[in-house]
Amino acid sequence: MLIPCLACEARFAPDEYFGACSDYDRGLDLVSWTCPRCGNRDDLRVLPGELGFGCPRGGRFTVQVRVRVPGLRRRRGELRLDISLDASDWRVRTRVRQPA
Ligand SMILES: [Zn+2]
Repeated sequence: MLIPCLACEARFAPDEYFGACSDYDRGLDLVSWTCPRCGNRDDLRVLPGELGFGCPRGGRFTVQVRVRVPGLRRRRGELRLDISLDASDWRVRTRVRQPA
């Protein structure tokens, strides 16, 4: 199973793909992803069995494009998102923002 970058269409093994995730936004339920190939930044929602891409607007996020990743699971934590697929898992931490 290879997961594509929607910008450059490079395809990544899950370990490389999820290793490029950073900063889980619990409010919007999004992780940031930076393509290791083209450097494109995207926000995506990890869902059971798929990844959701779309655009945040007005404090909400609407999924417009779904990429199926059979077996993908997620668990939301207080300051992190745990992602698992097959026998592997990844933890995406929330970057703690200093209050203004
Ligand atoms: Zn790319």
